[in-house]
Amino acid sequence: MKCSFCGKDQLEVGKIISGPNGVNICGECIQVCNYIFSEERIKKEKKGFSIKNIPTPAEIKNYLDQYVIGQERAKKILSVSVYNHYQRIENNLFKKEKDTKKKTAEDFIRLEKSNILLLGPSGCGKTLLAKTLAEKLDVPFAIADATTLTEAGYVGDDVENVLLKLYHAAGEDIESAQIGIIYIDEIDKITRKSENPSITRDVSGEGVQQALLKILEGTVATMPAQGGRKHPHQKNIEIDTTQILFICGGSFEGLENIIKSRLQVRNIGFKADIIKNEEFREKDNILKQVLPEDLIKFGLIPELVGRLTILANIEELDREALMDILTKPKNALTLQYKQIFRNQGVELKFTQSALEAVVEKALSRKTGARGLRSIIEESMLDIMYEIPSHKDIRECTITDKVIENNEMPVSIREKEKKQIKETA
Ligand code: ADP
Repeated sequence: MKCSFCGKDQLEVGKIISGPNGVNICGECIQVCNYIFSEERIKKEKKGFSIKNIPTPAEIKNYLDQYVIGQERAKKILSVSVYNHYQRIENNLFKKEKDTKKKTAEDFIRLEKSNILLLGPSGCGKTLLAKTLAEKLDVPFAIADATTLTEAGYVGDDVENVLLKLYHAAGEDIESAQIGIIYIDEIDKITRKSENPSITRDVSGEGVQQALLKILEGTVATMPAQGGRKHPHQKNIEIDTTQILFICGGSFEGLENIIKSRLQVRNIGFKADIIKNEEFREKDNILKQVLPEDLIKFGLIPELVGRLTILANIEELDREALMDILTKPKNALTLQYKQIFRNQGVELKFTQSALEAVVEKALSRKTGARGLRSIIEESMLDIMYEIPSHKDIRECTITDKVIENNEMPVSIREKEKKQIKETA
């Protein structure tokens, strides 16, 4: 008896199952079929994302509140614009369906997408906001750094590789990737390098902005299946970027001066009262008044600014916000450390003064909340080294002295003292 699929006989493959009309199948071929079906099933499950399940803006914001401290206005803007974005996709899909049914669809208006620009100091939650959004919506998400991108043909990453990242994040399912979210960080670092046109090409500035513009606007881009540079003999995958939501972020150092001078000129021009000094006191307040023209002056090309229609300001994190970040989010830093210690049977505690010391150090580093983790990590290194060697320690309290002077917590010091006595 032979397998009708691979042609091998019973001696080679062992048991063979016979079906009607003389058709037989061997165990090996059954395994191959199983594999094919499970691949299909995984693909279907991945496509499980349904636009109908898009949460309301309030639900999106509620979710963001659990992970991101402060940034109230940015959260609201993001929740509404992301909700609208997916409504827009639904609308446009509906129009497509109507078209295929050959019904007139004049009453359907194709809605253009709006990409988002998050403006504000680094370490204050731009990436975190974009990442948390994608988690809530259960859509593929990719992060790219604008500074690594160069115009096609130059050393660096092609802009299309950003799309490839999203495609991988979508489990190589092109349909899911096409409704994903891409976060492009440091968009302010690819500005035009100089006002004067130069004879050498502007590889990292305007050229990259042009390339980004194309994918932001919506185009069918080809990306190299293996990543890296494009070359003629490799397999390319096509991806339509029309429904991909782009969120760009940047700290835009110096932008406040451009806004400030615009505000002053306007006010003098209209012979209005000169703006009071207090209004200029806070950088945040100035950045809130940003207009597209300021971004163009900063060095972004007008077409790109025109595609980033939603501007949201990220505010500097103050003492109170940093304190909240340490303890309040669902996966707050202190909770993460407590978990690590709990897994070793130790209860970890932070005194209020220890938390204040961490916040104070973070403020002086001026890196937003980014400093918090490294400060705690630095202070905890020795403790995390010692704890596993003292199996009888059940509790460990971190005080301000541990944070400020790298002292060992009392429980470990006492254990060490006892050990020294015993060996003596
Ligand atoms: P950036 O604004 O430079 O993109 P990130 O979002 O990457 O900053 O922030 C770095 C880290 O700092 C985050 O992973 C998070 O742990 C913490 N963080 C920053 N801002 C906030 C915030 N508003 N709420 C909670 N955590 C924050």
